[in-house]
Amino acid sequence: MANYILSIDQGTSSSRAVLVNSRGTIEKISQSEFTQHFPSPGLVEHDANEIWSSQLKVIRGLFEDNTIEPENVSGIGITNQRETCLLWNKKTGAPLGRAIVWQDRRTANACDQLNASGKFDWIKEKTGLVVDAYFSATKIAWMLKNYEGVEELLKTNDLCAGTIDSWLIYKLTGNHYTDPSNASRTMLFNINSNTWDTELLDLFEIPRSILPEVIPSNSNFGKIKSEILGVEIPIYGVLGDQQAALFGQMCHEPGMAKNTYGTGCFMLMNTGSKKVNSKAGLLSTIAWQLEGMNPVYALEGSVFIAGAAIQWLRDGLKIIDETPDSEYYALKVEDTKGVYVVPAFTGLGAPYWDMYARGGIFGLTRDVDKSHIIRATLESLAYQTYDVLNCMLEDSSVPIRVLKVDGGAANNNLLMQFQADMLNTIIERPANTESTALGVAYLAGIRLGIWTKETLQSNINPAECFYPEMDKAKRSTLLRGWAKAVSRCKDWEDKD
Ligand code: ADP
Repeated sequence: MANYILSIDQGTSSSRAVLVNSRGTIEKISQSEFTQHFPSPGLVEHDANEIWSSQLKVIRGLFEDNTIEPENVSGIGITNQRETCLLWNKKTGAPLGRAIVWQDRRTANACDQLNASGKFDWIKEKTGLVVDAYFSATKIAWMLKNYEGVEELLKTNDLCAGTIDSWLIYKLTGNHYTDPSNASRTMLFNINSNTWDTELLDLFEIPRSILPEVIPSNSNFGKIKSEILGVEIPIYGVLGDQQAALFGQMCHEPGMAKNTYGTGCFMLMNTGSKKVNSKAGLLSTIAWQLEGMNPVYALEGSVFIAGAAIQWLRDGLKIIDETPDSEYYALKVEDTKGVYVVPAFTGLGAPYWDMYARGGIFGLTRDVDKSHIIRATLESLAYQTYDVLNCMLEDSSVPIRVLKVDGGAANNNLLMQFQADMLNTIIERPANTESTALGVAYLAGIRLGIWTKETLQSNINPAECFYPEMDKAKRSTLLRGWAKAVSRCKDWEDKD
């Protein structure tokens, strides 16, 4: 009987389910985009019930044509958009309100107050994170104050809080668990002691009882209920999406790094058992923790808007029909004619950490047409990555000779070539850019004894490389223009 691993990949833009075969390659993918709610500027919400129903639909979709039976699935891995969190009723499973998405800025003021009270270094030392509305703590605190029904459920101990992994685990198994890679994104988890931090829970007035139990990333998280696929299958791996991509890109040794071009852009470098404290605006985070082992740490640079800017061209400006069309239009022109798009729609992440920055288009002249704007938007992904890579070099002092890439927008060849040019580094794109889904499948499959790291490595198809071609003077000119454009976007929104 064939051995498959089912990867449940709950991203910011879509829910995906992926079947990975015993060679460690993807056999089938089912995907469904779901609704993004923008109640007012800077606010981003998801309907947790829609996340669940879309996820269930794609999981079942994999087996609809009866070519593979659920009985052939040995184990499940879950990977998910991180930081996004919600409250739900433990008894009924009903969310108390919409999930607040990682991009949401409603708690920017609360974060300012924390920084003003001198908590920045204290929180960074405990959590590896900078104080920013991006992380779950202030979002959970906000929901506890603003969602109806909190008081009653607290009294009977029927309130659950969690990130999307714990929501899916709960819906699939009834258990309330999370793993350290997800917990380390909440700003409530002490990454030195690998436990929820009592002082932080007190600070944010979040009761420990509503949080999931944190167990190692490759634990047995429970079996899925039989009504889901007709059979009970154990969940044996849970990782936040970026950590999963690091695992899936086989960055298992210290110094190895990858960059994922999804909704946002996330560069992670494995720093092994050492937590590196960034001086350059990067985050320290837990990459994974395997049963019986100490956590493995990573340095991370998070860019909030990357592929989402291409979605904006499609859904907001409506100047492309499909996101891959961005390459077609960008190729129509030689360059952007000096136009820069800074997609700081929800503020700026690493290395700027400016919650009040907003997006801008600069350098417009009358001869600029939509192709230039599309090209400039694509290029903004590469510039933002450049900013993050520079910080990584500063912090780790290890030169990155090759950058491994993945995620939806990494399929864009023009972007990858421009990225190689901007970084002056070789870009290595794996044959399959679904590193996130593969990563958590590998984690579960290694645990189940289906693969070893070595067999996986030998099964992976060769990657495609993009080599730098641009001369230094041109690169410097372009990068100077980018820095100028970013400076114009900073500190834009009024602080209340
Ligand atoms: P997530 O896991 O965050 O949902 P994905 O890795 O699925 O993200 O990537 C989807 C993102 O990539 C979308 O924001 C989309 O705009 C972008 N994208 C997908 N294909 C392309 C392409 N060929 N060119 C540019 N952007 C793309």
